[in-house]
Amino acid sequence: MNGLTMFDRVGAAGGRGVLTGRAGRGVLVFLMVLAAFSGPIRGQEALPTPQERMRADLAFLADDAQEGRGAGTKGLDVSAQYLADQFRAMGLKPAAGTEDYFQPFEIPGRPRLAETVALTWTLPEESASGAGVLGETFTPLSVGGSGRFEKAEVVFAGYGITAKDDTLNIHYDDYADLDVKGKVVLILRGEPQQNDPNSKFAGANNTVYATFRHKAVNAFQHEAAAVVLVNNLAGLGDAQDSLIPYNAAGRGSSLPFFMVKREVADSWLNAIGQPSLADLETAIDKEGAPQSRPLPGLTLSGDVTIERPPYKLKNVVAVLEGQGPKAEETVVIGAHYDHLGDGTQGGSRTPNRREIHNGADDNASGTTMVLELARRLAARPDPLPRRVVFILFSGEELGLFGSRHYVENPLYPLENTVFMFNYDMVGRLNDKNELSLLGVGTMAGLAEICQALGTSHGFVIKGTAGASDGFGGSDHQPFYNKSIPVLFAFTGLHSVYHTPDDTLDTINFEGMERIADFMEELTLHLVRRPNRPEFIPTTRRSAPRADTAKAEVGANSTAPQPAPPANDPGPVSGARVYLGTQPDYAQEEGKGVLLSGVTEGSPAEKAGLQAGDLLVGMGDRKIGTLEDFMECLSVHKPGETVEVQIIRDGKPQRLKVVLGTRSAN
Ligand SMILES: [Zn+2]
Repeated sequence: MNGLTMFDRVGAAGGRGVLTGRAGRGVLVFLMVLAAFSGPIRGQEALPTPQERMRADLAFLADDAQEGRGAGTKGLDVSAQYLADQFRAMGLKPAAGTEDYFQPFEIPGRPRLAETVALTWTLPEESASGAGVLGETFTPLSVGGSGRFEKAEVVFAGYGITAKDDTLNIHYDDYADLDVKGKVVLILRGEPQQNDPNSKFAGANNTVYATFRHKAVNAFQHEAAAVVLVNNLAGLGDAQDSLIPYNAAGRGSSLPFFMVKREVADSWLNAIGQPSLADLETAIDKEGAPQSRPLPGLTLSGDVTIERPPYKLKNVVAVLEGQGPKAEETVVIGAHYDHLGDGTQGGSRTPNRREIHNGADDNASGTTMVLELARRLAARPDPLPRRVVFILFSGEELGLFGSRHYVENPLYPLENTVFMFNYDMVGRLNDKNELSLLGVGTMAGLAEICQALGTSHGFVIKGTAGASDGFGGSDHQPFYNKSIPVLFAFTGLHSVYHTPDDTLDTINFEGMERIADFMEELTLHLVRRPNRPEFIPTTRRSAPRADTAKAEVGANSTAPQPAPPANDPGPVSGARVYLGTQPDYAQEEGKGVLLSGVTEGSPAEKAGLQAGDLLVGMGDRKIGTLEDFMECLSVHKPGETVEVQIIRDGKPQRLKVVLGTRSAN
């Protein structure tokens, strides 16, 4: 049997005549809507061809005026209003329970310092005791977290580095034989022999041990109370000693992490008869050996509170009601319309450019695709047997927040939501016509349908059974986790992904029209098929999370992203160890790494790790944050057996895991 015969081709955009007819109905709807509403409606219905309509939508969303559709920008709200206006112009109703198409929700916003931030010190000579001036002589850095400490002892710990690294051949430990538990460590920025081409720390290049993250994570491993960092002379060169901005140091660990001016730290050292910072740095660099030491007589007290005023976001949701006995069954067609703003909210691959990230492909293209499909379905004269709900999600780039919010607060019952389409980056169909479809294994028979129908439309279908294999980090995942079959369409990753160069001129509109034609036909097939789609699980599913409101959001360029590839955080250095965990990127900070799932057949799955486990240690290391976890992975080798400490259902457990090789997976 020819696979095509099973498909209903009615309504598929097969030629010009069909398109003209559809556009004609669109104009009629547009005029009717104009008559029914007062006020301006900017509908793209009147444009004659799909490509012109899609270009108009995409150009609006990817315009600089929309500010990269970043969380907290006016451009994101303007985009939401545009999408609602389009739905209205098509004659689609707002989904039940929305406020005029909007489903609002809040997520924690960008971290900022509370006004109570303080750093004070005591010295033997009472008159020498003092307090730092925020922003002038000290500042907390985002590489640390909130916390308080009172009159803590202080230890000088060199560069704050512990390197037992056979790969880079670095064996150096500023913490050797040093007790810093509950104490503050005073450390230098950079690494030993920083500008020395013959340095054992990879010559004049910085290694990972020079990073703020290593210093924060390493201090946490040694159970320090807090970190106080100063610029090193080798790093400063001729530059003035200045503090770096709070948000510029990336993410790291959960302990308070301060930076102070050198003159402040030198005044402490001088008051207790210790060598100056310059002398200590010179001594370390000369010998290539640590100069760590307690600093008796000096105590530090500190207070850091990090606030996250919420972002107010909204999904935009429209409905096309069905008719007949299956009218209570819902098919969702979704895409996220948010993007990265100016790149500083996190997720940008070029955060230092601080330019508008227009996100033409990611994901003005998917949003435009949903609008185009909505127009086509809304303009049909014949009622459909199932309900179709169009959802344009917000907060995707920061952690699938819009789709998570929807599945926890569904506008139509999830038990009767029978299928979910997700479009994320469908604007760059290549000349080989390759279209990736993920999730073809989540519904009985779906792979065959996609293959046959896709081929008939001239596509090379790259089907992936699982919804979260490889590049699966998008809005279909929360639906899949609720046992709903999903299909995620994607034209592939590219060099301008998550950069300011993802712009309108790179979009293949002819390709988008062809995808719309194909997906319109596939959608009609699924909406009309007699039998309810049958869900097939392809990977372990995430435990449902009830507390997404408490979830934390990545703060800056180094924040982990749920966007592809959502998998183990990369190793810091050394061999590419593979575990196969899927961290929950919305988890609460600093308490461990919560898993939203594990990859099928991975070392993590074989060891018995599962969704909902909180990873708190590995080998002899503690895990507070994702960055701690990354460093844990980096100190082990493929093939090694390590003990993993987890909290499951509130109880500590230990599991043995045999680490794999990343490249082999
Ligand atoms: Zn993205």
